[in-house]
Amino acid sequence: VEDNVFEPFTKSFYVEPEEIKAMTEAEVSELRLGLDNVIIKGQDCPRPIIKWSHLGLTTDVMNLITDEFKFLSPTPIQAQAIPAIMSGRDVIGISKTGSGKTVSFFLPLLRQIKALQPLSRDETGPLGLILAPTRELAIQIHEEACKFTKETPTIRSICCTGGSELKQQINDLKRGVEIVVATPGRFIDLLTLNAGKLVNTKRVTFVVMDEADRLFDLGFEPQITEIMKTVRPDKQCVLFSATFPTKLKSFASRILHKPISITINSKSLINENIQQQVQIFDSDQGKFEALMQLLDSQIKYDHEIEEDRDEKTIVFVSSQQICDLIYNCLLDQNYTTFAIHAGKPYNERASNLEKFKSTRNGVLLCTEVLSRGLNVPEVSLVIIYNAVKTFAQYVHTTGRTARGDKHGVAATLLLNDELAAAYILNKSFRDKELDSLSTESRNLLKKMAEKFESGMKIGKYRLTKGFGGKGLEHMEKLNDEKQ
Ligand code: ADP
Ligand code: MG
Repeated sequence: VEDNVFEPFTKSFYVEPEEIKAMTEAEVSELRLGLDNVIIKGQDCPRPIIKWSHLGLTTDVMNLITDEFKFLSPTPIQAQAIPAIMSGRDVIGISKTGSGKTVSFFLPLLRQIKALQPLSRDETGPLGLILAPTRELAIQIHEEACKFTKETPTIRSICCTGGSELKQQINDLKRGVEIVVATPGRFIDLLTLNAGKLVNTKRVTFVVMDEADRLFDLGFEPQITEIMKTVRPDKQCVLFSATFPTKLKSFASRILHKPISITINSKSLINENIQQQVQIFDSDQGKFEALMQLLDSQIKYDHEIEEDRDEKTIVFVSSQQICDLIYNCLLDQNYTTFAIHAGKPYNERASNLEKFKSTRNGVLLCTEVLSRGLNVPEVSLVIIYNAVKTFAQYVHTTGRTARGDKHGVAATLLLNDELAAAYILNKSFRDKELDSLSTESRNLLKKMAEKFESGMKIGKYRLTKGFGGKGLEHMEKLNDEKQ
């Protein structure tokens, strides 16, 4: 196919809203972590959106989404994939079943089609082509599509699969259709009918491969390649799948043009060798007592049983004052404790760190800010005494335990008004860690997290004071290397 025989068309419809533009890189990184840890690859990926109104959709589509379907907010794949696709990019979207992938590609498809020159009388279409692996899936997508187009007579959609009436399909196609949802085999059959006079891909500018892993498993690769050859080279093409095996990767790289790949929740943010714990308090007093208990069981308990046991602990606090205060309390209780914070001269910090390293079952008190540059040794228990404010902070502090293939515990002592931390923990805890909490704590954590989340949507709360993309990328790299 030659480029110059095709009418130009518009792929790019997304204008980044001011609210998103105003975010710092660190905030964007926090936002992605909060969206079930969105991982993006590829050049110039737009930032995710937070709410539907950020997409600049037409009123009728907005009404459908919010009033009729009652989709409160975009799911993580929608929040990242829709602005990327509506910026005109080829996109690979990997996210588990039930996470809202259909809307992720259908809204941008709809937007593009509405801007295209309508089909002329002698054109049958389609303009948008959605390929699905099975009849059942094609029907599902078609039904979802119809919910969006039922009030829009200018956008007709049809489902073409083997096993359904070919005659009926041909009749529908003759009248012209804007969107075809099809299995690859049946679509090729239709293309060859009447030497392409019935259906052809001349006007197709948007192609979706949905459930791509299954398309591939069912052996549709040759058919898809065949179909793609007939579509104009500058088409927009997106691929969605629940999994992304290696063979699919090379297929995708052949079919898509400079794609952005978007993966949701590829792995837990927190190293799986770290066991996360939380206790929630309504006063500092209760929190301090819990700290003493944690240290007691870590240090004193079987200290005498195992002579060469070395179980070190780091306690992260938020300020020099708290650091000094707790240090003195622990000293009174005869703990071997070392403290480092920015208020101490460099030499003292360095020597305290050395002493901590060489002291068995030692306790290090440390401000989180200072700890970033330090080469702290392996510890088996991290206690977060003052709640973290960002995902990046949480990843960083918990990452001080369970290095290599060792195991460790990260315990947060939380006050019941520390909502941001509750939100972060609630998202980071695995099911089994949530299950191990008392019903009361679990419900309280959830309630605090929900309060924060709804506050974020109206701009009342936000996650800030992270150390941004760089620090976290580094952590991820370390995690990757380990795995
Ligand atoms: P997937 O393709 O990822 O398996 P679907 O696109 O089939 O998921 O969506 C699963 C269900 O979630 C559908 O019933 C859909 O209507 C619903 N859904 C989609 N987006 C949202 C949203 N933003 N909020 C709530 N429900 C949604
Ligand atoms: Mg789906």
